[in-house]
Amino acid sequence: MTKDYPALEVNDIHKYFGDLEVLNGISLTAHYGDVISIIGSSGSGKSTFLRCLNLLERPTKGSIRVAGEEMKLHREKDGQLGAADKKQITRLRSEIGFVFQGFNLWAHMDLMENIIEGPTQVKGVSKKEATEKAAELLNKVGLYDRRGHYPSQLSGGQQQRAAIARALAMEPELLLFDEPTSALDPELVGEVLKVMQILAEEGRTMLVVTHEMGFAREVSSHVMYLHQGQVEEFGPPKEVFENPKSERMKQFISTEL
Ligand code: ADP
Ligand code: MG
Repeated sequence: MTKDYPALEVNDIHKYFGDLEVLNGISLTAHYGDVISIIGSSGSGKSTFLRCLNLLERPTKGSIRVAGEEMKLHREKDGQLGAADKKQITRLRSEIGFVFQGFNLWAHMDLMENIIEGPTQVKGVSKKEATEKAAELLNKVGLYDRRGHYPSQLSGGQQQRAAIARALAMEPELLLFDEPTSALDPELVGEVLKVMQILAEEGRTMLVVTHEMGFAREVSSHVMYLHQGQVEEFGPPKEVFENPKSERMKQFISTEL
C-alpha cells in the first residue's frame, strides 16, 4: 500500500478532565504498516489517548489526521469544544477499528450477524457481499465453524477473535486495540495474540495498548512508553527495550517481565 500520507498523524494532543491533565502533549505519526505498542503504567493515559483518536473523547487541544483527513474538532470561542461534524465522525469510526478489553459483541446476534451488521448498516454493502467477506474473516480468525453461535456460547478468546473479525469487516485504515487480552484467562491469551500477529504480518496499521511485553518486543515495529500523559520513550522495540533512555521505562519493563 503506497499512499502519500501517513495512516495517522497526531499533533500535540492535550486532554483535561476538569482540572486533571491526562494527556500532556502527545504527538505520533503512524505510517501504513506500522504496529505501535503503547505501554505504561495504569493511569498513564493510554486508553484516553486511543479514545481521543476516534473521538470517543474529544481532545482539549491538538490535531488529528486519519488517512490524510484533518478531523474537525470545532473549537468554540471560550476554548471548549463544540459538536464535531457528525458525518465526519461516522466516517472516521468506519475507518478506525476498535477492539476493547471486554468482548463487546452484540449478545442477541450470532457471529455472522455480528460481523455483517456494520458493513450492511453503516457502509451499505449488500448482505450477500458482506456475508462472503465475513466468511473469509471468520476463516482467518479460525471461527468459521462457529458462525451460527451466539457470543454467550463462546470462550473469551473466541469472542475476542470474533470482535477482531468484526472490526476488520469495516476495512479500516487503522486498528486500535485497548488491552485486548487483559480480560482473558491466561490460556486464551495466545490465540488472540496469534491473530494479531497475523494482522501485523499482513501489513495492517495497528496501535495496541498492551501489557504483553512479548508482543511489544517481537511483533511491533515501534513501542511508545507513556508516563503521566507524555511520551517518555519511543522507538523500535529493540532500541527501547535494550537501551531505554528513560530510567522510569527501565523500571517499568522490569516489573512487567
Ligand atoms: P490508562 O489506560 O493508561 O490506565 P486512562 O487513560 O484510563 O489510563 O486514565 C488516565 C487518567 O485519566 C486516570 O487518572 C483516570 O482516572 C483519568 N480519567 C480517565 N477517564 C476519565 C473520565 N472520563 N473522567 C475523569 N477522569 C478520567
Ligand atoms: Mg486503560
